[in-house]
Amino acid sequence: MNAYCEARPVLFQPTERADISRLLTCEGEEQQALFQAARAARQAAGMDAVKLRGVIELSNYCQKTCDYCAIRPQNKEMIRYRMDVDTILAITAEIVAEGITTVFLQSGQDPKSDAMVLEAIRRIRQADVNVLLNLGEKSRATYARYVEAGADSYILKFETSDPVLYQNIVGTPLAKRLECARWIQDVGMKLGTGNIIGLPGQTLDTLVDDILLAQELQPDFVSSSPFIPNENTPLEHLGVGDLQLTLNSIAICRLLFPHALIPAVSALEKIKKGGQLMGLNAGANVLTINFTPKDFRDKYAIYSKERFVVSLDHAHATIAAAGLRPRQVANPVEVVSSYN
Ligand code: SF4
Repeated sequence: MNAYCEARPVLFQPTERADISRLLTCEGEEQQALFQAARAARQAAGMDAVKLRGVIELSNYCQKTCDYCAIRPQNKEMIRYRMDVDTILAITAEIVAEGITTVFLQSGQDPKSDAMVLEAIRRIRQADVNVLLNLGEKSRATYARYVEAGADSYILKFETSDPVLYQNIVGTPLAKRLECARWIQDVGMKLGTGNIIGLPGQTLDTLVDDILLAQELQPDFVSSSPFIPNENTPLEHLGVGDLQLTLNSIAICRLLFPHALIPAVSALEKIKKGGQLMGLNAGANVLTINFTPKDFRDKYAIYSKERFVVSLDHAHATIAAAGLRPRQVANPVEVVSSYN
């Protein structure tokens, strides 16, 4: 234990508002001690091996109107697409051929893709891979159907714990979002959630509340992502979210959720080269590799037209630079043969 930790043992249990608030803004030696404690917590929990996910962005239709996202329907510049099952299965085969065992299906909130997604899940699950979804707010019955089809986890970020800010920026009630998060857990899926750091009107207190809300939800995965201004959105002229605040939030989450999967999101790399490595060094343990074919990917401007696209090479180089290793995977040849 270093001198800092002896002086402030509370560092390892930041359960009080004041502790979380102080750690969110710490810098210099104090910040390095925070990151060191987060890495120690990750190692003690047996969560050092970095989880790789392969994401397929299957539709950029969306009902919602989030002010930070170019996929919102008001953006008439956006060319819309919705993949079919065969396209999704062809991309899935590429993912499993790389030995990645979590297929991550992501889209805007697009009810017209629900039936197709169910069919895709059933067929993906013919092989021994996990299916993670990020498809927005659905009915409890729809979440239950995803489980019946074989999905095992779902990401639904609350974005901000401030109900007024959420309503203003997302256009729907936060309470609805949280109800969906509980349905996801009720029907038996693991829940991933998290916030965006850098939204207009957000305060340090809001960010503390975000972490406390995550604690209430008890998610299996938790994330903090920096805000990135996106072209053709109401927030396009705002500055980017604070990298250091985001890294501190990741580290605090690691201390509070030692067994969680915590991503070093691609937005970190977008705002600073090496940002995802900084995320791993702050306690993260997930990298998501983008397998969406370029023609579709260019139309999936969830945080920027010029977003950073994570390749397999970049992921492996980042993991090696962090002194970590990827999680062991199943026999990829055996898995891919299921789609032939
Ligand atoms: S952030 Fe998600 S829900 Fe909001 S507009 Fe974009 S794709 Fe739709």
